[in-house]
Amino acid sequence: MGQRSGHQEGGKKLEVALSQIMEAEEVQTNAEEDKETKAKVQKLTSVFGVADLKNGAVGLYNIGQSCWLNSLLQVFLMNTCFTGILRRITVPPDDKQKRRNVPYQMLLLLEKMQHGKQKAVYPEDLAVCLSLHRVKLFVQHDAAQLFLTLWNLIKKQMKKPELVEELNDLYTICVQEHLACQKCSSETKRNSSMLTLPVPVLDSNSHVLKSLEDCLQYFFRPEELTDHNMCFCEHCGKKTPFLQSTKLVHLPQTLTIHLKRFCFRKSAYIHKLRHYLPFPEDLDFSAVLTENQCQADDKEKAAWKYEIFAVVAHSGSTTCGHYCAYIRSLTECKWYCFNDSHVCQVSWDDVKCTYGHSELHWGETAYLLIYMKKPPQ
Ligand code: ZN
Repeated sequence: MGQRSGHQEGGKKLEVALSQIMEAEEVQTNAEEDKETKAKVQKLTSVFGVADLKNGAVGLYNIGQSCWLNSLLQVFLMNTCFTGILRRITVPPDDKQKRRNVPYQMLLLLEKMQHGKQKAVYPEDLAVCLSLHRVKLFVQHDAAQLFLTLWNLIKKQMKKPELVEELNDLYTICVQEHLACQKCSSETKRNSSMLTLPVPVLDSNSHVLKSLEDCLQYFFRPEELTDHNMCFCEHCGKKTPFLQSTKLVHLPQTLTIHLKRFCFRKSAYIHKLRHYLPFPEDLDFSAVLTENQCQADDKEKAAWKYEIFAVVAHSGSTTCGHYCAYIRSLTECKWYCFNDSHVCQVSWDDVKCTYGHSELHWGETAYLLIYMKKPPQ
């Protein structure tokens, strides 16, 4: 494991090579675009290599409480759909902008992981880059929040609109929020998009939800807004009870589910919920949600069949914890556990250890679940 084939490029040489290729790309005309695109891809692969960490998996050294960053980076960089977009970014024109550019630094890190011969590499340049964007290093972070921060930075700094669109298609969940007055039946609808589905693991009476499917159903359940939660209805001219519901419109290729295991209960103290919560290898959303919880046609729903790709797991407490990532390599179809610089091959049974256990204080619990859409049959 960790053995790389191919040559080792000097960082500077690589940057120069890359910028030359990118400049060449800029001046090309639209004529014979297909042919030229193929040529460009060939040129790029000669720099970056064809394989997405094909010959095993490479760890990332912990540079001071950076397990959250390492886990998220592995989830991004092991996703061949994401790296396919990353490889086509425009290289920033000067050193200062290169240092500040998150997608560019991710690309350099990917190159370092692919073409080095080490079992693990240091993500220090990317960490410095993130610190320039006010992401604090050497402190414990919430991986779900950081996933959003990282994704926004990547999206913002990808200059090509077509890449931003592809990135949105790859990760964005579309929902429709419904708000219906219970007195006059007038209804308002609003489309919105989300990067993760933040599903509760307890119901409103603090009862444990039994499975991921239950959590998803609970997330999409309609909710009555009564008493002090009543809203003003323009038709009725007063505050009335409302029914609020979220309907699923579209699911992306890479779907991230955030299990809300950190909760505020009674006080400002953040409590971690460690109870057992199984999640399936295969997940069919059209079978989990009811007709009423969806706002999608049959063709869209037919594509809601997923298989698990990765699990970002948290162990320990909210104040003193550790993250690692279990990822199924898309090129090898093997599971790996990425624990900073330590990477080992594991089985699906090992991944199931992240279902959680109320008794185990330091025990691992899944925190982010990343599912991939199955290819159409
Ligand atoms: Zn009304």
